[in-house]
Amino acid sequence: MTGAPGGSGIRFDRVSVAYGRHHEHLVLDALDLTVEPGEVMALLGPSGSGKTTALRAVAGFVRPVSGRVLIGGRDVTDLPPHRRGIGMVVQQYALFPHMKVAENVAFGLKAQKTPRAEIAGRVAEALEMTGMASYADRHPRELSGGQQQRVAIARALAIRPGVLLLDEPLSALDARLRSGMLTELARLHRELPDVSVLYVTHDQVEALTLADRIAVMDRARLRDCGTPQQLYRRPRTAFTASFVGTANLLPVTVRGGGVRFAGRPLTVPAAGVADGADATLCLRPHLVGLGESPAADGNTLHGTLTEVQWRGATHRLHADVDGHRVLAELRELRDPPRPGDAIALHFAPDDAVLIPAGLTADGGAHDA
Ligand code: ADP
Ligand code: MG
Repeated sequence: MTGAPGGSGIRFDRVSVAYGRHHEHLVLDALDLTVEPGEVMALLGPSGSGKTTALRAVAGFVRPVSGRVLIGGRDVTDLPPHRRGIGMVVQQYALFPHMKVAENVAFGLKAQKTPRAEIAGRVAEALEMTGMASYADRHPRELSGGQQQRVAIARALAIRPGVLLLDEPLSALDARLRSGMLTELARLHRELPDVSVLYVTHDQVEALTLADRIAVMDRARLRDCGTPQQLYRRPRTAFTASFVGTANLLPVTVRGGGVRFAGRPLTVPAAGVADGADATLCLRPHLVGLGESPAADGNTLHGTLTEVQWRGATHRLHADVDGHRVLAELRELRDPPRPGDAIALHFAPDDAVLIPAGLTADGGAHDA
């Protein structure tokens, strides 16, 4: 498939959206974000954080109270949805039940006034791409959930959009189907390298798997944006740390260049945190080892084991260290310790990330 008549690349230029009679309910607060041509950007955040609203602002279904939306460098803030060159797929397979698959896929083309002679070929092409070519004559009710969602994707692609908007497209599917569809979406994007994708999800696995970059949303605001690796390895906020992956978030203080946790010194690089300040130490559970640190400069935490979970390939240990919960995710143990046991856990200095205070909510371990 070629061509992107609507242009590719999305820019949110301080886009605010508010509901209520006097616009008193701000649900998107001055969003500044650029999705490059051909880039997959995930909008990741908890329910109600404004992700769908941001996507609908690009589609043209909600009008910003201020700011501009640009697609392919062109200001589309005042354009109606059908003139923006976008394809959109939402959570519920919004197929027309009385239309056959082929008619569903042709719908956007007809709305766009594509010449009649071209429509059949474009429909076949889109169905081919999504592996649904042999289902053209079926009705949606004769398809599984996953197949219906493929048709919805084919319908979005048929208009050859420059921008593809996906709003939790996999959330109605079961876990196994979801993982297969993730692989499919990645393949589709390799076949359409010029299309910009805005992928709304609350599922960190989807975001980590598919996205070139992730924009983290919380309470109407963009909190962080970066590559999956940046956000996972070097989160700038405790919110990001806890939402992208699982994190131990431990309250620490910085004094004289040294970091202290629960009154004891740790060996952790303290760069970027002012002396005398409070901070949060982010430590990924899979980087925590069992036992005293084997390295001289390593850190050892002593505590009591409170819970042991066997997860097949791993054991997850919950320990209490001076009143703080610390999670360790260890390769399956032959002889795991038991709740109530005294336990030592260690980590290397470079495996912990210090997050300055002011950006953090609270301490303790957070599950994403
Ligand atoms: P998300 O997709 O991240 O779950 P949404 O963008 O759907 O979040 O919603 C953000 C906030 O806006 C929520 O508090 C939601 O209740 C509110 N909201 C969404 N649509 C409307 C609407 N049409 N009228 C009033 N409030 C709305
Ligand atoms: Mg939503």
